[in-house]
Parts: sequence; structure tokens; C-alpha cells
Amino acid sequence: MYNFYIMDKEKTKGKLYIISGCSGVGKGTLLNVFLQRNPQIELSISVTTRKPRSGEVDGVNYFFVSKEEFEKSVKNNEFLEWAEFNGNFYGTKETYVEKTLNRGKNIILEIETRGAFQIKKKKKDAVLIFILPPSIEELEHRLRGRNTEDEAAIQNRLHEAYRELECSKDYDYKIVNDNLEQAVGELERIICN
Ligand code: 5GP
Repeated sequence: MYNFYIMDKEKTKGKLYIISGCSGVGKGTLLNVFLQRNPQIELSISVTTRKPRSGEVDGVNYFFVSKEEFEKSVKNNEFLEWAEFNGNFYGTKETYVEKTLNRGKNIILEIETRGAFQIKKKKKDAVLIFILPPSIEELEHRLRGRNTEDEAAIQNRLHEAYRELECSKDYDYKIVNDNLEQAVGELERIICN
């Protein structure tokens, strides 16, 4: 009887999906459309030391914290994973993810590759999905088109993009974000089946 109870609990635990992709690849738009159509899936809200961009809201896009607060959370082992990216720190709170999974909900983490591999080491059944640009030229074009950053920041992001593309070979699935509808469909086949 007790064993059945445990098995039942295990069965109802949610699944963890990680989505990565270089800056400018259109992850945000893809995820927004996907989540609007699939509101039963949760999106994890990360903690970051990056300053909010215009329009970003604390507790919605990120939990924006100081470097000191972030370091305190690292010391207290509160993160399932964390990484430095482009001079800022980003992390996923473990309790947030575990609570969601224990409620039987599937959760998506939109994080960079170093964090993704930290989680895959701890949670073998995490599913890693990488969003690819149609081409490197297109990626550079999209990055420049944002008009939100100076040349040095763009070069930095491009450098990171090449490194991240290299990591994509170790992901479980790769989706080319050429056509939005198609890309959303592929994501649904992976996550909603
Ligand atoms: P942005 O500053 O453009 O919002 O994000 C920069 C990068 O940080 C993106 O690749 C994004 O996926 C990643 N990122 C966002 N949240 C987290 C997180 O909690 N952990 C890690 N490792 N990366 C994150």
C-alpha cells in the first residue's frame, strides 16, 4: 500500500525542460507564443544581477538583485544552478523549481549552456533543447537590429554565441528558429506529447 503511494507520487512529478540559444535567436518570442498556447506549462523566473532593460518587471521577467544578495544565495546553496554571463550573474532557485515539479507541473528554464549542463549532471531526466539561428549571418543581423547595445557588447554577445553554438551538440533536441509557427510546433511535439 505504502509502495503504491510512493509510485503514484513519482508518477505525478513534473518534468524539467531547459531551453538555451544564443542571444538574438528569438527564444523570447518563441517561448511567449508557446506559453500562451500552453498555459499549463510553467516558466521559471531566474534571479539576476543584470539591470532591468526598459519594460522589464521585477518578479515577472527576473528577480533583480544586487551582487551581494546573489553571493549570499550562492553561499546558502539556494541555487540549482548559476552562471556568469556577459559580466552579470544569473541563477535558478532550487525551491522554486522543486515546488513546481512536486505539484506535478512541467517547468521550462530558459538558461545558458553552463547552467544547463550543471542541471543535467544533477537531474539526468532533464530535457535539453537548443534553439538555433537559421545562420550565423542572420544571428548577427538580429543582434545588431536590437539597437540596445554598443559595439563592444555586441562583439561580446557574438563571441558567447559561437561558444554556445558549439555546446549545442550535447543537447537532446535542436530547433532551428527560421519559421516561428514551425518552431513552436516542434517545441510542442517535444514538450506536450
Ligand atoms: P539576458 O540578459 O539577455 O536576459 O540573458 C542572458 C543569458 O542568460 C541568456 O542566455 C539566458 O538564457 C541566460 N539566463 C537567464 N536566466 C538564467 C539562469 O537562471 N541561469 C543561467 N545559467 N542562465 C540564465
